[in-house]
Amino acid sequence: MGTVVVVGAGIIGSSVAYHCARLGAEVTLVDKTLPGAGATGDSFAWIGASDRVPGPGGPLRAAALREYRRLADEVPDVRVRWTGSLSWGGAEPENVREAGARLLDADAVAALEPHLRHPPERAVHLAGDGVVDPVATTDALVAAAVAQGARTLFATVVTGLRRAGGQVVGVETTAGAVGADAVVLAAGADVAVLCAPLGVAVPVASSPALLLRLTGPPDLVRTVIATPEVEIRAGRDGELLAPLAHTGETTATALARSAERARGRIAAMFHSGEDVRLRSVRVGARPMPVGGHPLIGPLVPGAYLAVMHSGVTLAPVAGRLVAEEVVHGVEAPELHGCRPG
Ligand SMILES: Cc1cc2nc3c(=O)[nH]c(=O)nc-3n(C[C@H](O)[C@H](O)[C@H](O)COP(=O)(O)OP(=O)(O)OC[C@H]3O[C@@H](n4cnc5c(N)ncnc54)[C@H](O)[C@@H]3O)c2cc1C
Repeated sequence: MGTVVVVGAGIIGSSVAYHCARLGAEVTLVDKTLPGAGATGDSFAWIGASDRVPGPGGPLRAAALREYRRLADEVPDVRVRWTGSLSWGGAEPENVREAGARLLDADAVAALEPHLRHPPERAVHLAGDGVVDPVATTDALVAAAVAQGARTLFATVVTGLRRAGGQVVGVETTAGAVGADAVVLAAGADVAVLCAPLGVAVPVASSPALLLRLTGPPDLVRTVIATPEVEIRAGRDGELLAPLAHTGETTATALARSAERARGRIAAMFHSGEDVRLRSVRVGARPMPVGGHPLIGPLVPGAYLAVMHSGVTLAPVAGRLVAEEVVHGVEAPELHGCRPG
């Protein structure tokens, strides 16, 4: 494929654009706002080897951490902090053994997280897990794509897919039409709307989830901590990040109340936790394929779908495999379980 349009500059579209450009394709990356402004910007961005939804995405998960190392070598501005993760109380991953996990006792947990008030008697430690700044990573991928010759069209909405003889041949945008041999649809939660005119159902929902940004004492959390009640890690500049499930709140007051309850749970977990303060609450629109498994592959001739949950973890491996399929026509066995339809 000579020319490729990628719709969506989240972490998935940016990774696809970079990998396609690296293979020599003429790439145009289009986004209605700016890179990382979708679900990516509101992500907890824990990159982990484990999977709580085993199934078709397994081979991608298995390669995810290795592919991050490869990508960080190729694109130095992709920076992973290899913090490791600690899970307990029912939040342990199911595929613990394959993921290379170790069981730790309370002393070992306390050595890793000295500020915990009550270290658990038993926790699963995944030393190889890490975290990224998802927007900085997306920006780095866009810059690397541009360095390989890709063109970007930001603040540009894709309003439709151009078709000729049953084949998708490009996109209509608010900045004009762009022709392409292949269009990669990486528009996250908006992908179903974008694909509706094709007459193909794309079973992807927009699934809200909250991201809390907090301040607290320096060095309060060192790893990624996951329990059924709290997930938390350190972010940039001493900030703490904590994702929270959306439980049907529909008013700002109800969202604020849920966030405050979560802050209270976090405060209770740590010595000096009373100094933890809520800085902001965001609601991210996660692209969520029905069944939870990635949807990656040809949709109709000329159009290729790339949408998944845990997209921050999967971006390097998914981007590389999509590019090899789209640009070189090399089918990836790892993607066989992920095909649309
Ligand atoms: C609170 C929260 C916590 C999370 N935690 C994790 C985690 O710990 N680990 C992990 O791996 N994943 C996590 N995720 C999920 C992860 O963030 C997403 O899977 C990933 O960011 C999806 O990336 P994407 O590029 O597919 O979508 P997006 O980032 O949503 O990007 C889609 C892009 O398409 C653009 N677009 C849409 N329609 C159009 C159009 N018509 N024209 C032009 N552009 C368009 C949008 O502007 C957007 O930039 C979390 C998500 C949330 C919200």
